[in-house]
Amino acid sequence: MNEQLAILIQLQDLDGRLDAIAEKRRQFPHAVEAAGKPVEEAQAALAATQGELDALNRDRRAKEQDLQEREARIDKLRARAGDLKSNKEYQAHLFEIELAQQEKGTVEERLLELMDRTEAIQKAVREQEEQLAVRRRTFDAERVRLQAEQQAMEAEVERVSAESKALTDRLAPGHRQTYEYLRTTRKGLAVAALKNGTCQGCRLSLQPQLVADIRKNEKILTCTYCHRILFSPPPGLEAQKA
Ligand SMILES: [Zn+2]
Repeated sequence: MNEQLAILIQLQDLDGRLDAIAEKRRQFPHAVEAAGKPVEEAQAALAATQGELDALNRDRRAKEQDLQEREARIDKLRARAGDLKSNKEYQAHLFEIELAQQEKGTVEERLLELMDRTEAIQKAVREQEEQLAVRRRTFDAERVRLQAEQQAMEAEVERVSAESKALTDRLAPGHRQTYEYLRTTRKGLAVAALKNGTCQGCRLSLQPQLVADIRKNEKILTCTYCHRILFSPPPGLEAQKA
């Protein structure tokens, strides 16, 4: 194989890897954000349940206050019983006390219902707190893993960049310019493989004579349509890729 062509193929491979890593690094903040989503959801659920519990507690305190007032009123009514003169007045008074006690009973029932509900909500709060803790731990582990991955990528970028630089230095200036121009104008792909007589850069079929020449891998030849540098992968490599 043409030595310059071999360098170009290798260079494209390395630069393609650098592009892929750069893309992954761009996605990194999104990956961290996505990993944090379950924590945010658990926090929101807990806050909502906590809010419900606060409302219940306020309601319960109001009912307790109401109950105390009703008890005080009943006590007052009872104390007044001695002041009453007629039997009729006395009967009416008893009826008033009875009514007040019935109303108090209703408030007591509501209060009991509230306490049951409060207990259930308190249980839900505890469960959601546990779930939040579990999700926080998972997120922390994931963040550590992502950071390690990030560091590994940085090390790989350094290594591959050095290899790419060394190869670039071995290119003839003309080939280097062509390569760099194609890299910037062809979405990063300057060197494409030939497969079944088709350029893998633009997917168009080439003239049989050009195909035959490219198969030899002896010269730097370019695609008629997209002008990418073309090469014919060795049979083993093609089988590997397919
Ligand atoms: Zn092409």
